[in-house]
Formats: sequence, C-alpha cells, structure tokens
Amino acid sequence: MKKLKTIRQFLYIAGCSAAIALLAAGCVPHNESQPEQSVQVSTAGSETVYEQGTTQQAIVQVPVDEKEPAADTMLPNDNPYGIDPAKPMVALTFDDGPSKYTWDIVHSLQSHRARATFFIIGNQVATHQAAIDYTLANHNEIASHSFGHQNLTKLSDVEVLNQIRPVDTALLEQHEYIPVLYRVPYGSRDERVLEILKQEGKPVIGWSVDPYDWKVKDKETIVNHVLNSVQDGDIILLHDIYEPTAQAVAELVPALQERGYQIVTVSEMFQFRGITPEPGVYYRELPPVKETE
Ligand SMILES: [Zn+2]
Repeated sequence: MKKLKTIRQFLYIAGCSAAIALLAAGCVPHNESQPEQSVQVSTAGSETVYEQGTTQQAIVQVPVDEKEPAADTMLPNDNPYGIDPAKPMVALTFDDGPSKYTWDIVHSLQSHRARATFFIIGNQVATHQAAIDYTLANHNEIASHSFGHQNLTKLSDVEVLNQIRPVDTALLEQHEYIPVLYRVPYGSRDERVLEILKQEGKPVIGWSVDPYDWKVKDKETIVNHVLNSVQDGDIILLHDIYEPTAQAVAELVPALQERGYQIVTVSEMFQFRGITPEPGVYYRELPPVKETE
C-alpha cells in the first residue's frame, strides 16, 4: 500500500510536466506578506512522551472501492473518496508535528471521511513513528516543514539542503513514503531559497486562512475564525501541537462539510483542480471552482 502510494506520487510528479507552464501561472500569488509566527517546536530530545502507546484508537481503514477505473481515466489518485471536482473543497494543514495531539486530529478526520496534510518537522520523525503510521494509514498526506524549523533565509545553501533532504530520507527509510510538498518555516522565503527548493523538486505551500491557533489557543476562536473566512480553494493553517487546535478540528470538520466543503489534502486539491504543483513555486491557495451557467 505504501509502495503503491509512493509510486503514485512519482507518477503524479512525472506524468504531468507538460501541463505545468499552462496551469501554474494562474494560481500563484507571490505576495503573501504575513510570515508564519508559530513557535518553534521543541527538539526531539526534549520530547519524551508524545506517543500514546497501545491504548490509542485502532487504525481505521476507510474501505476502498476495489473496482479499477479504465486506464484512460485513471488518475494518480483513483479517488476512493469520490471527490467531486465541481464542488467546493478546502485543505486543512497542520504544521510543526507530529505530537500527541496528532492522534485526535487524525481520528476526527477519518470519522468524517476527511483527509488533511501534515507538514511535519523532520527531527520529530524518529520519535513519532506510530503517529506517522496512523496518519498515513488513514490516507492523509505527509509533507515536509523542514528538518529543524529554522528560518531558511538565514542559512547557507548547504544548510538549506540539510533542512530538505534528511526529512525525505527519514520518511522514506522509516515509512516508505516520499513527501512531495514543502512548507518553509515561518513562511520565510526568498528567491535563493525558492530556487533551491525548485532544484530539489519541491512545490512550496503557503496558506490563505490563518486563525492564529498557536496564539489564541481557544477552540471557539479558532472555529469561528475559520468558518467566518473560509472560501473554496482555501488552504487553512493549523498546528497539531496544541490541544485547543485538536478540539477545534473535531468541530470544524463536520461544520465545513455541512457548509458543502470537501475536506481534502493539498495534493488532492491540486489534482482535482487540474493543477500540477510546480517545484519552487509558492502556492497560497488554489482557484475556486468555476461557476457554470
Ligand atoms: Zn512551523
């Protein structure tokens, strides 16, 4: 299953290069001015009790339709969740984990057949293997948020590479998983950093809705901010290292679905909006579904 997923991710990148120039230009706001201000996650050495052990919820696999689509209609993701490209969709994203709260968030998502993208810190991989397995087993996306959550614009080229490659290596070796997307710590980037990420094959993902969950640490405030501002195509920034965020997600997932939003991973949103994410390009949101007469 994981190997199949890995192959699909390779196909996802390799199969659509011809469409990059055509499709990417219309959805790449480059002007995000508000840097991510999340607190730096603590180092692996100081976190000793994050995994919740054998009493965790059992991993629940959502049944997948076994019927294979015809070859000419087969997508990299063969859409076991029945995502409708013509309907609104949003992507919940979680930075700075995994942590002990990742479990509850994944559970809330899978309870409603929703998925999300988890931008993990590379130095947390070794100490949170079970949480990563649980996240992947429920069809979420894991993406990279650097190895040690440093401001990449302050680092040398070699140091920047060391914030990119070891994350992929750890996920490949320990989970047979290759992350595709990258989110720079604090949203901090410049031309040089984006060029390195381009050379490394990394599309760069920002966000368009930020409830400042790391700051407000209040379930209702987080829920209300998201529900009051969310639009089709939004990428919502959250952090799976805070309990109020996990509590907010339990309410947000059904509330967003009641409002008609499909809750998808960032890569699913790219796929079902017909956009190939381009390495080194910064994406803040994806275009909304087009109105039809
Ligand atoms: Zn962060």
